[in-house]
Amino acid sequence: MNAEIIAIGSELTSGAKLDTNSQWLSVELSEIGIVVKYHSTMADDRDAMLEVFRTAANRSDLVLVTGGLGPTRDDLTRELLAELTDTELVLDEASLTFIRDMFEKRGRVMPERNDIQAKFPAGSTPLHNPIGTAPGIWCEVAREGRSPSCFAAMPGVPSEMKRMFAEQVRPRLPGGQQVIRRLDIHSFGQGESAVEEMLGDLTDRGRNPEVGITASKATITLRIAAHAESVEACEAMLAETRQQIYDTLGDLIFGERSDTLEGAVLAHLAERGETVAVADAGTLGLICQLAAATPHSATSFAGGTVVGTGLKQQAGSAAQADLISEQAARRMATECRESFGSDYALAITPYSEPDGDDGLRSCYLAMAGPDICTAHEHQILNDMSIAGPRAAKTAFNMLRRHLLQK
Ligand code: ATP
Ligand code: MG
Repeated sequence: MNAEIIAIGSELTSGAKLDTNSQWLSVELSEIGIVVKYHSTMADDRDAMLEVFRTAANRSDLVLVTGGLGPTRDDLTRELLAELTDTELVLDEASLTFIRDMFEKRGRVMPERNDIQAKFPAGSTPLHNPIGTAPGIWCEVAREGRSPSCFAAMPGVPSEMKRMFAEQVRPRLPGGQQVIRRLDIHSFGQGESAVEEMLGDLTDRGRNPEVGITASKATITLRIAAHAESVEACEAMLAETRQQIYDTLGDLIFGERSDTLEGAVLAHLAERGETVAVADAGTLGLICQLAAATPHSATSFAGGTVVGTGLKQQAGSAAQADLISEQAARRMATECRESFGSDYALAITPYSEPDGDDGLRSCYLAMAGPDICTAHEHQILNDMSIAGPRAAKTAFNMLRRHLLQK
C-alpha cells in the first residue's frame, strides 16, 4: 500500500504556519509499514485542491487529508470529496446532534452555517471528533480495474487530527490494529556510524522490533519500536532487543527514555554521597546550567564559575596559549575543586581562535578528583550551536567513565 498526505490551508502556503501535520502522519504511517511517497501542501483553493485530490486518488491507495473541514465558505474539503466521488452531500443526524450539543455545553447556540459540518458525501463514513466540531470523513474513490483509493479527511487542528488518526483512522489501515511499544536508549562516546556498525543487522530496515538511530548534540539514541498483537508480546520483544543493545554497546549507554548524560552522572554521585563543581570558560555557562537542571543538583552539584571570554582577548596571543592548554585546564579544575570543596571538578578552557581553511578550533577539558587530575584536547565542531553541548557533555562523560571504573 502506498500513501500520500495532503495538507490544506492558506496559512500554510502563505508561510504563516508550518505544516507539521504531514510530518507527524508520515512517522505514524511508517511505523505501521505504510510508505508515504508524496506530501502536498495547498491553499484553500478549489482548483488546486481538486487537481491534487484527483492526482492523489489515481496514484495512491491511501490519501490522508488535513484541514479545510471548518464551517466557513473557504473550507472546501467535504464539498470537493463529494465532487471527487460523484455524490451529493447528505446530512448525518447523529453528527448534527453531536455538534449542536457541543455548542450547548459551551453555553452557545450553534450558528446555522455549522450544520454543513454534519454533511457528508453519500456513501462515506463520518469520523467522530470528540474534541472539536469538525467530524472527519472516510470515503472510497472508485478506480477502474483497481481497488478504490481510500481518503481520510481530518481536521487541521493538530490535537484533533492526532486523536482522530489514532482512534478512527489507524484501526482502519492494514497493520493499524497492532500494538506498538517504544523504548529509547541513549549512548555517548561514539558517533552515529560507529554505533550503527557495532549494532550490525539490529538496525536493518523492516526488522521487528525496529531499531532507529538518531543523533542529537553528540548523544546517540537508539529508538526501538516493537509491533505485535498484544502489549505483553511487545514488551517481551523490546526486552530482548534491549538486552542485545546493552550486550553490544556496554557502558557507552548512559540511560533510557528521558535520562540525560549529566543527570546520569549526578545520580551516580548522589548514590555515592559525592559532589562535583565546574569551571567553565568555553561553553559560557552551559555546563553549569546542565548540572544545575538535573534532579540531583541539590545534593551533588556544588556550584560553578563562568569565566568571560573577554579575558582571552585582553590577554593577547602569547598569554592565550597559556589559557588554552592541558595545564590550564588542570589548573582550572584543581582550583575549582578546592574553592568549592567538592569531591570532583570539571573544567573547560576557552576555545582557540579558528585555525586554517576549515576553521578548526579546540579547547581543553579537565577533571580533578580525590586521586586523579586529567586533561585532554577537545576539537570544536564548526557548528557553534552544537559545539557547547558537545564540549559540556564530553566533560561529564569523563567523570562518568571514571566513576564506572571505580
Ligand atoms: P478544520 O478542518 O479543523 O476545520 P480548518 O481549515 O477550518 O480545519 P484552520 O482554521 O485552517 O482550520 O486551522 C486550525 C488550526 O490548525 C490553525 O491554528 C492552523 O494553523 C492549524 N493547522 C491547520 N493545518 C495544519 C497543518 N497541516 N500543520 C500544522 N497546523 C495546522
Ligand atoms: Mg484551513
